[in-house]
Amino acid sequence: MQSGAGIFFDGITSARHDVAVTLGAASLVISDRTGNVLANWPYNELEPLTAPDKVLRIGRRGNLALERLEIFDADFAHAVDEQAIHIDRTGMIQRRQRGSVIGWTVAATVSMLLVAWFGIPALAERIAPLLPVTIERKLGDAVDVQTRAMLDTGKTGTAFECGTADSEKAGRAALDKMIHRLEAAAGLPGPLRSIVVRKVEANALALPGGQVYIFRGLIDKAENADEVAGVIAHEIGHVAHRDGTKAVLQAGGLSFLFGMLLGDFVGGGAVVIAAKTVLQSSYTREAESAADAYAAALMNKAGGNVRALATMLTRIGGATEPGMKILLDHPETKARVAAINKFADAKSTTPFLDAKEWAALKRICAG
Ligand SMILES: [Zn+2]
Repeated sequence: MQSGAGIFFDGITSARHDVAVTLGAASLVISDRTGNVLANWPYNELEPLTAPDKVLRIGRRGNLALERLEIFDADFAHAVDEQAIHIDRTGMIQRRQRGSVIGWTVAATVSMLLVAWFGIPALAERIAPLLPVTIERKLGDAVDVQTRAMLDTGKTGTAFECGTADSEKAGRAALDKMIHRLEAAAGLPGPLRSIVVRKVEANALALPGGQVYIFRGLIDKAENADEVAGVIAHEIGHVAHRDGTKAVLQAGGLSFLFGMLLGDFVGGGAVVIAAKTVLQSSYTREAESAADAYAAALMNKAGGNVRALATMLTRIGGATEPGMKILLDHPETKARVAAINKFADAKSTTPFLDAKEWAALKRICAG
């Protein structure tokens, strides 16, 4: 097999190019549909990049333009693999990458400039963990205003936020008690904030910087306080892992990164894009599993009932965030539930709220 199809990213724009890939004598030739050669990579400079299963993703070593090529056809990927003497199956490159983690702190500034210049969304994943908490918080605040506006589609005259009317304040106090207990166990670098909104979906979401939205539908569907606490713990997992920040940086791209460099996020369409990302997209399965694992560990640490999260997840069909599909009988949901339950330790647990507080929380949107 001497040629095949691939998808090429030129590293300058985010456009995907359908390309023909040919195995030349000493190099891989990447050409567009009209036969123009877009890149010519010597075999000894090919470098494997991390990719999902069944995709061969390669780049060129030391290439500052950050071009990459993806090959989906297994047979052709194998043929490329055979030629590419540098594609390493022994883990040398991975070991080297681990060794360079320290260097990333210094490289962060350079990366930010690179992203700003080249607009490479993939770098968001690497930059997010390096952002100072104060900057992340500013980013979150800007997105928050927009998120609230997009979610608030209710009739005028009804308060969008629950827990503010006199009859709802006991519910808010109960929620605060629950969140403080989780927060004390979590030890996040910044304070967590939360808002309950009058939306019927059983959802929650976390914004960059630690603002957690809890939808009324989630509290309505829950049968005890630990079920609500479990979902909030899952959202705290996304905050701790900076998943929202990564998603927003990827979606907002250039504008946010320029904004970040200039210390001003507000203004421009980037905030709108970011809020849409938060509301419409979903995280990867890996990010969800990591948030589940975090939530289970946090529930254990806080003395709550880990199994309550699994129960709640089953009841709401696995969709803890607005962008997720409801997969009631889906193996993915079942696998998540099983994984969470494995974390449940035998210790006795203390309910997050007593009966009276729980009743108050159930009425947090009643006013
Ligand atoms: Zn999640």
